[in-house]
Amino acid sequence: MIEETTESASLNSQELEAMYAISRVVAQSTELDTSLNEIINFARPVFIFDNVVMYLLEGSESLEPSYARAIGRGRSSEADLAWGEKTAHEIFRTEQIVVRKEVKGDFSKDRMRLRYFLGLPLMVVGRLMGALVFVRYGGPPFTPDHTQLAEFITTHVAQLLEHQQLVKRLSNLEAERRLERLQDDFVATISHELRTPLGFIKGYATTLLRDDISWDEETRKEFLTIIDEETDRLKELIDNLLDSSRLQSGTLRMEFQPVRLDTMLRDMALRAGSFHENLTIELNMETTGVQVNADPTRMAQVFDNLLSNATKYAPGSKVSITLKAAGETAHMEVSDNGPGIASDHLKNIFNRFYRVPNEKTSVRGTGLGLFICRRIINGHYGDIWAESEEGKGTTFHITLPCEYVDGSLSDNQPM
Ligand code: ADP
Repeated sequence: MIEETTESASLNSQELEAMYAISRVVAQSTELDTSLNEIINFARPVFIFDNVVMYLLEGSESLEPSYARAIGRGRSSEADLAWGEKTAHEIFRTEQIVVRKEVKGDFSKDRMRLRYFLGLPLMVVGRLMGALVFVRYGGPPFTPDHTQLAEFITTHVAQLLEHQQLVKRLSNLEAERRLERLQDDFVATISHELRTPLGFIKGYATTLLRDDISWDEETRKEFLTIIDEETDRLKELIDNLLDSSRLQSGTLRMEFQPVRLDTMLRDMALRAGSFHENLTIELNMETTGVQVNADPTRMAQVFDNLLSNATKYAPGSKVSITLKAAGETAHMEVSDNGPGIASDHLKNIFNRFYRVPNEKTSVRGTGLGLFICRRIINGHYGDIWAESEEGKGTTFHITLPCEYVDGSLSDNQPM
């Protein structure tokens, strides 16, 4: 049975107050379910019902329950959302208010067997979005006055939905814009980073190939060294880019094996010391015999990156590497006394492509190094973070799950 209410009645002061309160909820709404709870709480003293369910249109096919409250009789049936479905489908078909009565057997002993349903279409800008279905167990039946109150409530719920849709659309738009901006920034950064070494390579190769000039051996060697170095840089850049997208998509394979951290850190320090001429590394081994399950190549990549960052961003500073362990956790630190990183930037440095803006230096980079470090360390079930104080320096911390193979302590070795 479908009934349309035409009769209108004026609201008494309590009803008016409730409706104002509901309007305020809609105006101040931030979260849909919380606002719906508040609306139901304000409505209930002036409009009696036992259960309410909101169905929303999924695609254009079906109405799915998205919110339910059991208030009066039948509180326990909150989870059973099927009771309003018949009414909801009728609304879906007709887009009109539906008033139904259902009798399930003898209701003289169990009032729950007599059910009065009031269902209202939720319309947003003239389109059916869903339905709100109220039920009363055992009566009284819904009167036109009740229907008018329910219509008022439904209009407000529809406004809530419209508001939520708008917020969702805006945030999608914002996310899309952000992504577009990120992609533009990415293309700009990467093009610049790829073009610089390529420019050097092309320039020096073309110069060397000129027929009209004969280069002496020393100049030839100097040009070839530049080409060699810039080719390494190009390779490193492309490797980083590939690693970063493999890490992002979870397809970077790691080969785990037992690795002693003191030995590994000594090797890293030796390697970095020979690679970066002006780098002084101090090793503080507060514990030895600590072993982790790790991919040695990937771990080397992490420390190479931290040490090369120290030479890039804290030039001339001594760098100390510390190894400690407590319980089942190994803790490593890489510290410098460089210019440090402002707290605003510190929270972002592990993000993909993030670089601290600095007009004073022209240090080259892509903002991929620390992103890759974090992914690798996380892939070892560990953690990496940074502490920094401007003007004082930066410390990178790494923790990894560990075990002990032997346990001698204190073996501090400056290098
Ligand atoms: P890249 O070096 O390619 O810019 P990273 O991801 O390795 O990228 O580093 C991100 C940013 O963190 C760098 O651009 C730099 O501003 C900052 N940073 C990293 N290490 C240090 C450090 N030891 N001292 C000061 N700033 C640092």
